[in-house]
Amino acid sequence: MNDCLFCKIVTREFPAEIVYETGRTLAFRDIKPQAPTHVLVIPKEHHADAAALAEADDGLADDVLKTAHAVAAQEQVAEAGYRVVFNTGPAAGQTVFHVHAHVLGGRDLTWPPG
Ligand code: 5GP
Ligand code: ZN
Repeated sequence: MNDCLFCKIVTREFPAEIVYETGRTLAFRDIKPQAPTHVLVIPKEHHADAAALAEADDGLADDVLKTAHAVAAQEQVAEAGYRVVFNTGPAAGQTVFHVHAHVLGGRDLTWPPG
């Protein structure tokens, strides 16, 4: 994906504060954090959204979820609790169409979300 921002973060063509990396996933801090911990976890391979990632059906969705929880542990929010969110599609507020899990923690999170 030539003009995908998150693909460019994977290739290091575009800078990001990377906090965790595995063979198939990358985690970096959100540029506009909504909580003390706000990390985005992506597969290195381009899929537009969580539905496409689930359909890939090759274990990649598992890898993204495992990385999300590893990041929560590393950020020391796992014990208190945290949220993993996939905004999927425009009505859910998705703005970057390279699937990403938001890992949010470090404060009390309200429910329902806006
Ligand atoms: P979405 O709205 O698609 O669920 O989430 C996209 C997220 O990407 C937003 O929270 C936004 O702040 C973040 N974001 C957008 N552009 C950049 C960027 O260039 N670098 C980083 N690190 N985060 C970005
Ligand atoms: Zn991409």
